[in-house]
Amino acid sequence: MDDADFMVRFWGVRGSIACPGPGTVRYGGNTSCVEVRAGGQLFIFDAGSGLRLLGNELMKGGHPHDFDLFFTHTHLDHCHGLPFFAPCYDARNRIRVWAGHLKPDAGIEGVLGKMMAAPLFPIPMDIFSAKLEFNDFSAGELLVTPPGVALRTGTLNHPNRATGYRLEHGGKALAYITDTEHELGQLDPHVLKLVDRADAMIYDATYTDDEYPAHQHWGHSTWQQGVRLANAARVKTLVIFHHDPDHDDAFMDRIAAEAEAARPGTVIAHEGMVLNL
Ligand SMILES: [Zn+2]
Ligand SMILES: [Zn+2]
Repeated sequence: MDDADFMVRFWGVRGSIACPGPGTVRYGGNTSCVEVRAGGQLFIFDAGSGLRLLGNELMKGGHPHDFDLFFTHTHLDHCHGLPFFAPCYDARNRIRVWAGHLKPDAGIEGVLGKMMAAPLFPIPMDIFSAKLEFNDFSAGELLVTPPGVALRTGTLNHPNRATGYRLEHGGKALAYITDTEHELGQLDPHVLKLVDRADAMIYDATYTDDEYPAHQHWGHSTWQQGVRLANAARVKTLVIFHHDPDHDDAFMDRIAAEAEAARPGTVIAHEGMVLNL
């Protein structure tokens, strides 16, 4: 396996709502979207506003694409990029869509269809010309993936539920853990299992520990909790993610400095950042 065979690129790193402006130029203002390349395959995690930019990049190649798009859940900041994802409008493309938080009450196709319905949205989802395949599973299942790639899933603690992912390839593991909330003084066993000895853990660090008490039960965690989990699970690199839209570049710089002191090598995700595992 060469170095570029397991790659992660961040197209959106914010939570809750996109927040472009002079205060977010360096870390970026788009909501959650992460591109992963492993074993020659493309995996996309979440369809926040960053997905639009990834789609434009994919279309530059001019050739058809065949890939998987995984939703952690369907709060708007994780799916409102989909209608603006250019590959959906090219009949040559095949896109498998996955979600683990909706069964048995609903399904991902129906939920996304509701988002793209009048009078909230001007065009319905059946305008997509790409071949879309919708798959619902139950968080905790091991998903079928190309040879040499394993994708484990687990339950996260979030309103309306969410799914965490662990992608393994070539002896390396990447964990994508957003959106999730911790219990004070505890380490979530579902998260610990997914992130155990991972080479990188992308973690919902919407708040600081100081801010957290005012946002309890909102479904998000803190960068300090990310440090505690990473230490306990012997994660190699902690990646702080799903930044609060009110945290401007100067605030994020302060978190970066404190996180580096608390756990050297910790990374703050910013738009355009690439990690090679
Ligand atoms: Zn979110
Ligand atoms: Zn959410």
